[in-house]
Amino acid sequence: MKKTLIALASACLVTLVGGITPAQSQQQFISIGTGGVTGVYYPTGGAICRLVNKDRKEHGIRCSAESTGGSIYNINTIRAGELEFGVAQSDWQYHAFHGTSKFEDKGAFENLRAVFSVHPEPVTIIAHDDSGIENITDFKGMRVNIGNPGSGTRGTWEVIEEALGWERSDLKLAAEMKSAETGQAVCDKKIDAYFWLVGHPSALTQESLSTCDAHLVNATGDAIDQLVADNSFYRTATIPAGMYNNENDVQTFGVGATFVTSADVPADVVYIVVKAVFDNFDNFKKLHPAFGNLKPEEMISDSLSAPLHEGAARYYKERGWM
Ligand code: GLU
Repeated sequence: MKKTLIALASACLVTLVGGITPAQSQQQFISIGTGGVTGVYYPTGGAICRLVNKDRKEHGIRCSAESTGGSIYNINTIRAGELEFGVAQSDWQYHAFHGTSKFEDKGAFENLRAVFSVHPEPVTIIAHDDSGIENITDFKGMRVNIGNPGSGTRGTWEVIEEALGWERSDLKLAAEMKSAETGQAVCDKKIDAYFWLVGHPSALTQESLSTCDAHLVNATGDAIDQLVADNSFYRTATIPAGMYNNENDVQTFGVGATFVTSADVPADVVYIVVKAVFDNFDNFKKLHPAFGNLKPEEMISDSLSAPLHEGAARYYKERGWM
């Protein structure tokens, strides 16, 4: 990957002189860090790459989406220069840029750059019908999947746990499976519930709710209200009635999925990626049902706490959006 960035940097020198020239003889590679294959991040990275690769002959960039551990892994790997782009929850974008919460030890990632925000990601809890769980506060004494290390899900669970005043031992079992493994585990009653932050509709949530005796539950209460009141990156949310097997709206809260990069990635490369998405926006929206309500004017400002990458800002200004 380091080699990729060197190739990108030298390509930038070329394009600085010549503008964005078509048909660069040298192929450049960019990678997008996503999440588990049954989540929404993975198809999000796939959708972006598909639009970038469509015009590969003109710009010479080949894009690939990688399945990863999720938000925090993606941010750390961009920081290490081993991924050019990643999808990350807005709470972890905020904390990485400011060097707070889980990023306190590493310090502020000042070169983190926002590109755009994507779909909303509410806290989503799938509980087995036999568990008796009706709200996040019923997790006490239960066997719950709290997310694999490196996932945004896991990071946000730790914040919620602290807000509730709980210790890890308040759960009977704190499982750390990757999202793709959790559906089977709840169907097999190996766990009582799994918790994650994800866009809707999501393939895994759909599969769990349609193939096993499971239901969605609320994430509400005083501790949650306080978290939302204290942090700009959290907001109350609902999973609408009928989205899955839920007869009523599910009351919860959540973050936004965002697309991020590093200031070290050349502006021309970011510009090409952003242009691929927004020049083909109707097409992009069709690539995943969670993108149905996206609006460019919200995507370029909502849920972003790191500065916009200059390559993205250039495109948004050209479109008259800034
Ligand atoms: N928000 C999740 C995370 O960062 C990933 C959700 C997804 O894969 O769509 O852990």
